[in-house]
Amino acid sequence: MKKLFFLITVALVLWGCSSREVVDLVVINAKVYTVNPEFDIAEAFAVKDGRFLFVGATEEIRRKFKAKETIDAEGKPVYPGFYDAHAHFPGLAKFLAQADLSGSGSFEEAVDRLKAWEQKNPDKSWIIGGGWDQNLWPGKQFPSKDLLDKAFPNKAVFLSRIDNHAAVANSKALELNNITNIRKIDGGLIGGKNNIPDGLLVDNAMGLINIPQPSEEEYLELLQTAQDSLFSVGLTSLVDAGVSVNALELLKKFYENGQLKIRDYAMVSASPETVDDYIGRGFYESDRLDIRSFKIMGDGALGSRGACLLERYADAPTKGFLLHSPDGLDKMIEKISNSPFQANTHAIGDSANRILLDLYGKHLTNNTDRRWRIEHAQIVSPEDFPKFRQFSIIPSIQPTHATSDMYWAKDRIGAERMKGAYAYKHLLNEYGKVAIGSDFPVERFNPLYGFHAAVARVNANGFPEGGFQMQDALTREEALRGMTIWAAYSCFQEHRRGAIENGKDADFIILEDDIMTAPAENLRTIRTLRTVVGGETVFLRK
Ligand SMILES: [Zn+2]
Repeated sequence: MKKLFFLITVALVLWGCSSREVVDLVVINAKVYTVNPEFDIAEAFAVKDGRFLFVGATEEIRRKFKAKETIDAEGKPVYPGFYDAHAHFPGLAKFLAQADLSGSGSFEEAVDRLKAWEQKNPDKSWIIGGGWDQNLWPGKQFPSKDLLDKAFPNKAVFLSRIDNHAAVANSKALELNNITNIRKIDGGLIGGKNNIPDGLLVDNAMGLINIPQPSEEEYLELLQTAQDSLFSVGLTSLVDAGVSVNALELLKKFYENGQLKIRDYAMVSASPETVDDYIGRGFYESDRLDIRSFKIMGDGALGSRGACLLERYADAPTKGFLLHSPDGLDKMIEKISNSPFQANTHAIGDSANRILLDLYGKHLTNNTDRRWRIEHAQIVSPEDFPKFRQFSIIPSIQPTHATSDMYWAKDRIGAERMKGAYAYKHLLNEYGKVAIGSDFPVERFNPLYGFHAAVARVNANGFPEGGFQMQDALTREEALRGMTIWAAYSCFQEHRRGAIENGKDADFIILEDDIMTAPAENLRTIRTLRTVVGGETVFLRK
């Protein structure tokens, strides 16, 4: 009898085993934020062929599946991979090869950093740096070439501002590019006096300087290093907000060779030529790289007073400027509207936002699901907010811009216009979704900085107490949706990523602490333990 019982048991176990479906991976004992429409929390899931196959309870997963790999999350929280809805991947790669001037407390300190960088890189023919912000310096004056000429009389120097909307070059760099006097530049500015350039170049004037580019191998290595940094903070997807034709073609090559793994929704940098060119080519869509949209530059940035305002700046006799003429913008947008491509336009100032919203509205007459985006939507006039709803325009926002600019934004635009500035909740209430990004390398790439800034609206030190313009804070659920499923939606990808649901790409992360419940002051320092893209672990904290 005992023997019979034993045999039956063995048979049942064998039958149980054989009926279990073989999968590549299961994650069990987790707190899984699925970010599905109900915002359900699950315990486990199974992954097969790079996709989520089944989401449920640990026991259920164990009973149903036989896994090649099992990850016991030991109660840790799991989220869909973070999606940066506005970033600059090639920009970050190049930033890694430059002298890092971010956070420098004065121009003198920046020059000291350049000297140290030059000692470490003696064979470089140019000194290229980035990340300075004159708003952090005593006097808040823009830098000029004088200090650079003194320190580097024989080497060309080019230093871009943190927002990439201004730069300072030394005399050697100006000479090499034949910039010997001040001339008028559409959508830009050469700084100086009495027809003598002082080295400051704003927006379109920056393009006058040709800086040496890395070789193809160097470039790939820089991109891979950047990618590893992004994986280490839980990013699995990003929107590349404006990529040049050269960089795009290289990205295509690297992705086709399987040399890059992060998912990239790359917007083509729009000019009259590239709009014709890429519409002619049609969509490029693959597992990891999509090219089916344009990034148009509306205006400049607030920090360098290039943002285009309806009324003059509060602290300077200018209204800023557009980077294309309204007619030029109209023509590009009309062409895009007649194609299946998506239009995404950088608009910071209230004038730029109005012009772009109206142009979008003019051309989006009979199609409601074009998902055109306004990048930044930073200062919006009260009467223009409803246009996001009316024309179905997605606000693409970067919450760390609020906490980086809050020290001086009011100086630029005054108290009245501040009411419609960094107004993320207002924008969310209009459209019903926001796509959240970091704008790295303008800001740090860690998405939890953006999450923290969105929900608490304070800097890393908890300043200001109680938060900056808290009426525009987002809830944690809204912020998490903004950096997962809504970001995917803004790229027409909500059916394939952005949530832990059956059939979607198995992109997920395990964090050491729960961002939905942790005290706000801890949010920036919560570390990513594991990052998985398409079922493959691409980062594991040791
Ligand atoms: Zn950007």
